[in-house]
Amino acid sequence: MQAPAHLGNSAASRDIAYHLHPYTNAKAHESVGPLVISGGKGVTVTDDTGKSYIEGVAGLWCTSLGFDEPRLVDAAIAQMRKLPFYHAFAHKSHEPAIDLAEKLVALAPVPMSKAFFACSGSEANDTAIKLVWYYNNALGRPEKKKIIARTKAYHGVTVAAASLTGLPNCHRDFDLPIARVLHTDCPHYYRFGQDGETEEQFATRLADNLEALILREGPETVAAFFAEPVMGAGGVIPPPATYFEKVQAVLAKYDVLLVADEVICGYGRTGNMWGSQTYGMRPDILTSAKALTSAYLPLSAVLVSDAIYKACVAESEKIGVFGHGFTYGGHPVSCAVALETLKIYEERDIVARVRDLSPRMQGTLRRYLDHPLVGEVRGVGLIAGVELVADKATKQPFDPKLNVAGKLVAFAHQHGAILRPIGDTVGFSPPLVINEGELDELLARFGKALDDTADWLV
Ligand code: PLP
Repeated sequence: MQAPAHLGNSAASRDIAYHLHPYTNAKAHESVGPLVISGGKGVTVTDDTGKSYIEGVAGLWCTSLGFDEPRLVDAAIAQMRKLPFYHAFAHKSHEPAIDLAEKLVALAPVPMSKAFFACSGSEANDTAIKLVWYYNNALGRPEKKKIIARTKAYHGVTVAAASLTGLPNCHRDFDLPIARVLHTDCPHYYRFGQDGETEEQFATRLADNLEALILREGPETVAAFFAEPVMGAGGVIPPPATYFEKVQAVLAKYDVLLVADEVICGYGRTGNMWGSQTYGMRPDILTSAKALTSAYLPLSAVLVSDAIYKACVAESEKIGVFGHGFTYGGHPVSCAVALETLKIYEERDIVARVRDLSPRMQGTLRRYLDHPLVGEVRGVGLIAGVELVADKATKQPFDPKLNVAGKLVAFAHQHGAILRPIGDTVGFSPPLVINEGELDELLARFGKALDDTADWLV
């Protein structure tokens, strides 16, 4: 594809010519081109024209410590100099992975036995799926393999993780989902709660539907339930009150494992170290990534209960080597950066910081509920979603062709704020180190973009 002539031989032009983008409309990109980000400082990034933006989503919900934390750079350089690569295959190990595994097991929201390392959230979730299958084979239950996720869930894009993801674009024409993956209700009360139904009644109905699904499929065939504590890429959807309590009662009844996908929620985002703590989840497996290294380097971690670990031992006794692992999983430089990241979270009491800032962000956003375009404001800690509606009384959504949230986010760019459109919802997930003034400025820029959107619609 030739880039539009006016772009010349710019970075944007070469991007159009050579770069296939993730999660981008390939056709539109040929004319729209990229926003080329060339620098970062604090909670701000700068494009190649010198314009700066407050990063309201921390990149992809991940750069918790902002864009220029020197201690993470120093940790990476020191580890690069000492041992730039080693692996953990075939009984090898290295200190950064050992230290990090020990640290994560100590930090876990429920007793966990071991940490396994991969490079991305998708790989962590694929690993969890394989472990669930391995576990049931070890227990002599070869039929117990089906996995339940939720409509609008996001668990990544590798073949199995994308199958769990409950978003149409991740399946359509990729020939997904794979077999043995089921989806149950999205727990979005505003959208799917029925007239007169309380949040608790909605949660009961969803737990009943989950139970009905398990019974329909046969409990002896259902192995695990995957859930993000707060659904992120599906639209920032916190669970309704009592949801996980009721869901976990169903899972326990039918011996179905719970996998908590903490890829966004982990490491403070919801006002506790783990989203599982915020919502009383007691997972058998926990996956995390993103803020584990403040996204400075790729790394993900899978924490497993003792029962899952024992199944791995039993399988090794039966068939030998645990045949799973990634070349770069637990890369020493990534692990060194993760250790420094966790140290900074502790030193700066990042969880307390999120709790301090949360009412400011959630409260200010809720004031926009008076705005004619805003149907719902939802969120917890430092993650939030503002859902735009065509009619507040009926909750009528906009015609998707209008791409209203996309338009708002484009206006926000003009005002120097990066936000994320998800359907008709605008997502917020700023770096956890954002200060009060920066947060106020981010929210003010959002307010301007909201008004611009209202003007554009008339
Ligand atoms: N799980 C959740 C909850 C996520 O939000 C994401 C990514 O946004 C993933 C998994 C996939 O992570 P990755 O993009 O690192 O593969």
